[in-house]
Amino acid sequence: MVHGFDTEVIVVGGGPGGSATAALLADAGHEVVLLDKASFPRHKACSEYVNPGGAAILDELGVGAEARALSCHRMAAMRVHAPGGGSFVADFDRAEAGRAALGLSRHKLDHLLLRRAQAAGVTVRERAHVRDVLTEPGPGGGPRRVIGVEATVDGTRETIRARLVVGADGRHSAVTRALGLDAPVRWPRRTGLVAHYRNVRGLDAFGEMHVARHGYAGLAPLEDGLTNVAFVADVGAVTGRAGSLDAYFSSGLAAIPEVAWKLEGAERVGTVRGVGSMAHRARRATGDGFLLVGDAAAFLDPFTGEGIYAALRAAQLAAPVASTALRAGDVSRRSLAPYAAARRRTFTAKGAVCLVVQGFVHSPPLMDYVTDRLDRRAALGLTLAGVLGNFRPAHQALTPAFLARLLRP
Ligand SMILES: Cc1cc2nc3c(=O)[nH]c(=O)nc-3n(C[C@H](O)[C@H](O)[C@H](O)COP(=O)(O)OP(=O)(O)OC[C@H]3O[C@@H](n4cnc5c(N)ncnc54)[C@H](O)[C@@H]3O)c2cc1C
Repeated sequence: MVHGFDTEVIVVGGGPGGSATAALLADAGHEVVLLDKASFPRHKACSEYVNPGGAAILDELGVGAEARALSCHRMAAMRVHAPGGGSFVADFDRAEAGRAALGLSRHKLDHLLLRRAQAAGVTVRERAHVRDVLTEPGPGGGPRRVIGVEATVDGTRETIRARLVVGADGRHSAVTRALGLDAPVRWPRRTGLVAHYRNVRGLDAFGEMHVARHGYAGLAPLEDGLTNVAFVADVGAVTGRAGSLDAYFSSGLAAIPEVAWKLEGAERVGTVRGVGSMAHRARRATGDGFLLVGDAAAFLDPFTGEGIYAALRAAQLAAPVASTALRAGDVSRRSLAPYAAARRRTFTAKGAVCLVVQGFVHSPPLMDYVTDRLDRRAALGLTLAGVLGNFRPAHQALTPAFLARLLRP
């Protein structure tokens, strides 16, 4: 126990970002309490595709072998279909031998990562809903600093104090909301609906994305013969729908002929999970006494399939900086600044690539055009596969030479 505090670190949220940060901090010898409002294992609305960069981090965290033992599906490539019927294969294994994405339900993946944190010594408290952050005036009348959280644990209100609070509570983060850090995201404003299916026909070892005029669908094979089926559309189209969410989901998929064919005779397992607007951004990821990882800090859109990677990578960037700050007895924003700088170095260029890809996805003629070029110009496709898979530097897909070769007729 740290003097005047209940623990050294509180991590709010036990998704990939929270569990990985908690595990790495506990590995470094810190006392960590992780709070999650859910009971694990729990489902999470997600396409459940861990990109090659994310799969590599699972290995670095020491859980890759266990993920594979859960018979997760190995995807050596992703086939992307454009609205006009063209397609290209983002071939990870050809871009770099041995690279592959994984399909594993969040029910299993998140539980695996949470158990990794527990094994490292993290105290995990489930059904612990964080309602607010606790702050006190900074030294010399400076900005207020975070010193804990207010939570409802199994229905009982608790105040829990810590030297550092890590906000890892996802897109609807209570931590960013309480700190007034939510920044408006005007575009893209998409929402995603997902469900598990059995007996989807015509799938090979690849994952699939199907872009259509009314939205896009994703098919990701998972463990135990399950397939994750997702449909993503503009928020307005989903909120303004005439019938039920189920009916909207089914008709969105049915209007994409190749997806409709693959789902003919398939059986849906469980409910359709939906979310509100998906994009989220916090004004900053550090402050006095706190830092943010994963979707709580930033999330754009699932098309490029990297939210899990970004959450795990943020944990790897945050933990050493937080550990140094805790040992120095100074968890001020200035002390945590190296994490903010590491985020900029790691995520800014990739964020720009994702915005460019969003531009293509939102414009069917452009999507048809670039899909055709990527299919015919193999080297471009391999560069993009590496960048989207997070094993090649993102700036490779932003150079004038790359863009000129992609866009020239
Ligand atoms: C439809 C859809 C499809 C997606 N598909 C993919 C994909 O295929 N591949 C990919 O890489 N990414 C995908 N993403 C993104 C991915 O799901 C996220 O980027 C990833 O889950 C972020 O991890 P996280 O740990 O930051 O947050 P989360 O995984 O959201 O975890 C947050 C945790 O915090 C807990 N929590 C929330 N609020 C509180 C609170 N107040 N108190 C206590 N606990 C709280 C929640 O219970 C949850 O366990 C998709 C997202 C959506 C919406």
